[in-house]
Formats: sequence, C-alpha cells, structure tokens
Amino acid sequence: MTNHFHTNDTIVAVATAPGVGAIAVIRLSGPEAINITNSVFKGKDLASQASHTIHFGTIRDEGKVLDEVLVSLFVAPHSYTKENVVEISCHGSDFIVQQIVKLLLQKGARLANAGEFTKRAFLNGQFDLAQAEAVADLISSDSALSHEVAMKQMRGGFSQEIKRLRAELVHFASMIELELDFGEEDVEFADRDQLRTLIGNIQSIIRELLKSFELGNVIKNGVPTVIVGKPNAGKSTLLNKLLNEEKAIVSDVPGTTRDFIEDEINMEGITFRFIDTAGLRETTDKVEAIGVERTMQKLSQSSLIIYLFDITEVTAAEVQAELDRLNPQKLPLVAVANKIDQASAAKLDAFASIDGLVQISAAEGANLDALKQALVEKVNLGKLNTQSQTIVTNLRHVDSLNKTYSALDDVLNGIGLGMSGDLVAADIRRALYSLGEITGEITTDDLLDNIFTKFCIGK
Ligand code: GDP
Repeated sequence: MTNHFHTNDTIVAVATAPGVGAIAVIRLSGPEAINITNSVFKGKDLASQASHTIHFGTIRDEGKVLDEVLVSLFVAPHSYTKENVVEISCHGSDFIVQQIVKLLLQKGARLANAGEFTKRAFLNGQFDLAQAEAVADLISSDSALSHEVAMKQMRGGFSQEIKRLRAELVHFASMIELELDFGEEDVEFADRDQLRTLIGNIQSIIRELLKSFELGNVIKNGVPTVIVGKPNAGKSTLLNKLLNEEKAIVSDVPGTTRDFIEDEINMEGITFRFIDTAGLRETTDKVEAIGVERTMQKLSQSSLIIYLFDITEVTAAEVQAELDRLNPQKLPLVAVANKIDQASAAKLDAFASIDGLVQISAAEGANLDALKQALVEKVNLGKLNTQSQTIVTNLRHVDSLNKTYSALDDVLNGIGLGMSGDLVAADIRRALYSLGEITGEITTDDLLDNIFTKFCIGK
C-alpha cells in the first residue's frame, strides 16, 4: 500500500472554517509545498529547516507584506498526507486568507478538491479507508457517543476486526487454490468441515456487525423522534420547553456561541432529532386535527414516539385504547400525561395502570427530567458498551457486509453440493472483495470519489 501513489502537484486549501476568527490556517501538501511557501516567506530559509518546526515571518507579494504568520513544517513522510506539508497560520480575515491563497496559486500550487488531503493520506498508506471515513465522522460528530464511535473507528478498531476476518478467509482461499494447482490429482488441502465452521463463524460476526448498525445509525444521525397526540394536548409547549432548555444549556457554556441545531436535543450523549415539527412549532393553528393516516405516517418515520395527552380530558382506559390502536407494532413509545398541574391526586392515581407512564406539566416544566430519563432508557444505549463493541455507523460498510455475507452463503452452498474447488474459490474471492472494499484493500476510482467528495475542502 505504501508509496504506490505519486503526485507531482502541490495542493493548497484553507483548513479552518470561513468567517472571521483570531487565526486561519492554510494548508499545503505535495512535493513543492515547502519550496512554494519559501518563495513568498521572509524570515528564514524554510527549505533548510527540520521537520516539525515552527517559524515566524512575513508573507510577501513582491515586497508588499500581506501578513505576519507562523509556518509549521512537516517534511515527508512525517505528515498527515506523508507528503511535504506546510501549515500557514495567518490572521483570520477572509481577505488576508484569500490574498495568501491567491499568491500560493500563482507560485504553482493548485486548489485542493474536497477531501483531497485525506485522500492522499489514504493513498499513501497513512490509514485505511474506514479510518479515513472516520475522520469525516469525527469532524461532524456532535454528541459524546458519535464522537466516541468515530474516534474508535479512526484509531482502527473497526478495521482490525474486518482485517482479521479477511485474513482467515485468505488463508482458506489459498489452500483451495493450491488444490487447483494439482488439477487432476483430486487432493483436498482445505478441510471442508473446517471451512464450513470458519464461514459459520465469520457469518455470525457479520450478523453482529450488521445488527450494530441499528445503534450506529442512531449514534451518528440521532434518534428520529416524534411527538403525537390530540390537538391542545400540549405538544408544541413541550417541544419548545425541551428545545429552550437545550439552548440555555448550550449558551451557558462560557465563551461559546455555538450554532443551535433546530429541533435537536442532546441528552446523555444521545441526539434526539425531532421530526415533522413544523406544525408543532406553529402554535397558532389549533383547528386542524391530525388525521389518523397522517399520524401513522409520522410514526413510520420515527424510531421513538412520545405520545402526549391532556390528563384532564381523558380516562386511563381511553388512553390505553389509543395506545393499542396507535402502536400495534410496539415501537419504542413513551406515554406522557400532560397538565398535571390541573389534575387532582386521585386523577393522577387513576393512570397508574399505564405502563411506563410519565406525568408532566409542559407549561410549568415539571418532571421533565423524568421524561428525559425515560427517553434515554427507551433508546437503550445503556446496555451498549461503546468501548469494547464494534459499531458500524456507515451505510457503505453495511452494503459491503451484506455482499460478503451472501457470497459466503454461496460458498457454503457450494461445499454442500460438493462443488469443485475453483467454483468455491471464486465465491470466496467475491467475499474477500466485498470485505476489502470496507478497509480499502480493494478500491475503484468511483468508490474513492464517492467517499472523498463528501468531505469539505481543506480536509
Ligand atoms: P398542541 O396543540 O398539542 O401543540 O398544544 P399546545 O402546546 O399548543 O397547548 C395547548 C394549550 O394547553 C395551550 O394553551 C397551552 O398553554 C396549554 N398547556 C400546555 N401544557 C400545559 C400544562 O402543562 N399545563 C397547563 N395548565 N396548560 C398547558
């Protein structure tokens, strides 16, 4: 893998987010990264400096000083991309940044494509494909769990597991191919029973991995959550209360002015993504009762349901009947009685029969902690040990795992039918191919383009 990738061009991109900041970082990678920077830098001769050193000086365009900067040097192969890399830290004005980038382009650098730094790092063997993808996940992670899972994948946890499976299969494939070399002689080097057991084991590991995607997806993309209930139950009041609390928490952190993501709430490291909230946030339109069909449609898009009702308006029996009707598939649902501030103790007691019911006052914000606790428990990540368990978070990996699984089915069938070694070997190779796609032992240009164009420029 190492050193099979050679480029003569040097790329440049702004690595920091656009907008005004104290500093901005411009990154170059490629054989001429240091020379190009040297040609516009005044202070020291960068070409004669050691790797991993930082240098103060000015960037000049024909004698005119554009900025005072710090230049960090990473000499190949000791850099992210394994090429010469230079990072120029300048003052964070878009104008300065643009002037410097323009100058570097004039001196022979080319503007980097999306994800090109990470693509080069992958092609030069810095890490495998699954780890490269984790870099993107890490950058976009917005909760404790998504961060943890991305970090683990980036550090190679997931790749190790896939590579182990692959190595075992490679061993058998080579035994079978050895048989083929003997042609007529009818020898079996690869014990068929052992192969069957091996494939059974690999398939059960793949099943576990595929199952983990249910959680992986939730961790990465949040839990699609919906609030349903009759008009005036207090749905919009509850949603606004939860969102406002979240906003308060976020803006309480000193020195942060983080953008608040509309309709998402973070609880205990899990992101709850409230879907279809347009109608809810619009509190004026009270008349339209949501039809049954519409409600069902909402439910089908969500993984978690909050069923909210006005406790002063209904009996426990009515609520129970409604729950049975709404949720025949037993999706994770939290039943919530609202407006307890208006209800007598006797009324509250009458609802004790409803399983897992949480009683709140959305308007007064009473008992919201209990509601949050119930939501977190429903998602059931508590059981999950993200430290030790490998979690698949990527749809592309799911696809490759499925293909591997079905190729292995074919291997098993082939052995069962006593098929000849060359046919079995072909199915094993197919399984190897799909597994190899995950970590990038097997790549095509399309596959790489697909992955890296989803990165932002500068990554
Ligand atoms: P939606 O139609 O389900 O979205 O219901 P709204 O959130 O618009 O609430 C309907 C009415 O119930 C509004 O007048 C709210 O102020 C009121 N309401 C909501 N929650 C509570 C609560 O906990 N206690 C009381 N007393 N009133 C509430």
